[in-house]
Amino acid sequence: VSGPAPRGPAGPRTVKRHNRALILGHLIEAPLTRAQLAQITGLTRATASSLVDELIAGALLVEHAATRGERGRPANPVALNPDGPVGLGVEINVDYISACIVDLTGAVRRHRSVPVDARTVAPEAGLALAAGLAVDVLAEAAGLGLRAHGAGLALPGIVDAGGLLRRAPNLPEWHDLAVGTRFGALMAEHGLPLVTVENEANLAALAELWFGAGRRHDFVRVSAEIGVGAGVVLGAELFRGVRGYAGELGHVVVDPDGPRCACGNRGCLEPLAGQDALLAATGLTDSDALVARAAAGDRRTLAAIEAAGQALGVALAGVINLIDVPEVVLGGLYARLEPWLRAPIEVELAARVLSRPWAPLTVSASALSADAAVRGAAGAVVQQVLRPTVH
Ligand SMILES: [Zn+2]
Repeated sequence: VSGPAPRGPAGPRTVKRHNRALILGHLIEAPLTRAQLAQITGLTRATASSLVDELIAGALLVEHAATRGERGRPANPVALNPDGPVGLGVEINVDYISACIVDLTGAVRRHRSVPVDARTVAPEAGLALAAGLAVDVLAEAAGLGLRAHGAGLALPGIVDAGGLLRRAPNLPEWHDLAVGTRFGALMAEHGLPLVTVENEANLAALAELWFGAGRRHDFVRVSAEIGVGAGVVLGAELFRGVRGYAGELGHVVVDPDGPRCACGNRGCLEPLAGQDALLAATGLTDSDALVARAAAGDRRTLAAIEAAGQALGVALAGVINLIDVPEVVLGGLYARLEPWLRAPIEVELAARVLSRPWAPLTVSASALSADAAVRGAAGAVVQQVLRPTVH
């Protein structure tokens, strides 16, 4: 567990919170009996049992029907309660707004996405639209008997630790915006604390950690929508950088003489490998057509994807040379293009990553669909319920 060094001895409340988080953490994997929880956690049977009883009373856990215990005694497995507190995730992106409800088991209970061209909407109106969608989804959740513990917000730009959106290159009007405060006020009207405001690619990477296949703990997740974003997870923790601005792979320079980027520079990865670059190179107007043309073996489309893959491979080789991360996960449009994108990426990695002969690298497609970021935003709320910060 990282974080600042503790300032003094742990009191009984801290110990209890820690032990509660310990029990909940083990139940993320699978239902367990009280005896199994005691054994796995090292808590006494009595302590584990009383914590489980409290968590059941608090609606965080449910007791399943009895099965026969190992020694022939009935043992009731306990599990995370799908009808306990849920997380509300909201995402404002360049061309859509979405909201979803994720329960304690990680299941998406409600999801809504509406096309909104945020480039043509003033920030205040955009935030109000997102809050309206959130309220609709909360009402649907209430219809299922679900009550949200808090909200998380995903944004397509760089966000500081205080919820200030510094800049969103694809949304020129959205800059120096106290989104945490403003969206927090909109959520407070509905009695919900705003638990997190975070870059969408960072939240998508966290969604990969919490909900993705393969139990990955060390990876860089790169995805394309209008922008290209990346999130780095090391040791099961999001790497935010010292000031919180890490992960801007889309603005890593691949070709200094390359095309102009939305950020104002030349030759960033984004104008070489982003969705708009792929569409411009193929003369297509949407990503569904791009995937269909690639699947049909259209040469112009495949050449465009290969060029994007080369640019991605060059940028990713730099990341891997710098931080030695063993896995690349492709998300968003890149996950859909993985059958054609992976080979050119791997060619560049093989040529450019110095440690490649001794350190295997894998490149794979995310199993999460395009809603990874909004799931991550809701997941951050669920994590706050399951693993409250010990202090
Ligand atoms: Zn750029």
